[in-house]
Amino acid sequence: MRYWFDTEFDERDRVIHLISIGILAEDGREYYAVNAEYDEQLANPWLQANVLPFLADQVRVPRAQLREEVLAFLNPAPSEIWAYFGEYDWVVLRQLVGHMIDWPPGWPLSHRNLAQWRDQLGVSALPQQPPDTLHHALEDARWCHTAWQHLTQRAA
Ligand SMILES: [Mg+2]
Repeated sequence: MRYWFDTEFDERDRVIHLISIGILAEDGREYYAVNAEYDEQLANPWLQANVLPFLADQVRVPRAQLREEVLAFLNPAPSEIWAYFGEYDWVVLRQLVGHMIDWPPGWPLSHRNLAQWRDQLGVSALPQQPPDTLHHALEDARWCHTAWQHLTQRAA
């Protein structure tokens, strides 16, 4: 089962703090959650302007519960986990699950980077995401799937 995901995070004090996560599964399921333990008072001006407005009406989930929900959602086990420039998102996801040794056996050890695949295919442009949805983690994950479909067609 392939998955596409995105997180919003606060990169501060050499820690990447999870704010929200969105995941889309190949079978059409979607997951979205906001971390109840993120302290929005500490958000920098960019996060205040671009991310926090999406959180206003959302239920907050304690991080431990969020972990269990993500592990339950990633079933069937992932064969590929895709993101767009997902290096930081990947660390956030891995640290949500736990230490490296807590990562379920057989799961991918790296994310697949849509930007890298785009460059390898020589594709100059990806589909546009509606600007008013940018930095909503689930909307961004949905866009990752759209971009992946676009690249899959180009690679055929
Ligand atoms: Mg995002």
